[in-house]
Amino acid sequence: MDCIFCKIANKEIPTNFVYEDEFVVAFNDISPVAPVHVLVVPKKHIANLLELTSDDGQLMLHIMATVIPKIANEQGLAENGFRLVVNTKEDGGQTVPHLHFHILGARAMAWPPG
Ligand code: AMP
Ligand code: ZN
Repeated sequence: MDCIFCKIANKEIPTNFVYEDEFVVAFNDISPVAPVHVLVVPKKHIANLLELTSDDGQLMLHIMATVIPKIANEQGLAENGFRLVVNTKEDGGQTVPHLHFHILGARAMAWPPG
């Protein structure tokens, strides 16, 4: 499949991972919008949040309860916090159709988002 995040996850495109395990990779965004901008990407191709099924429950729990807190701690975001973003389809501003989680931090975020 011609998917850039699949290619990154299976190492067809060499990328420095800030985290990797059997299910997930994480790497710095190529075009960061905050001092810390890490993308957390499941190795399984899931186009967007709406494509998740109950089969993905363990994967999502792993990402939310283990991977993201670990990266947040390692990136120094635990004390002041961070923002987690999942852009979904056109109105959400999703540009890469492979589910990913933006961890944004090390500056105060504005609300509402643009
Ligand atoms: P989204 O717009 O939510 O789909 O996010 C896609 C993100 O992937 C954007 O923030 C891009 O800057 C980022 N991105 C695209 N290609 C790469 C790449 N090769 N390496 C790292 N980040 C990328
Ligand atoms: Zn993919």
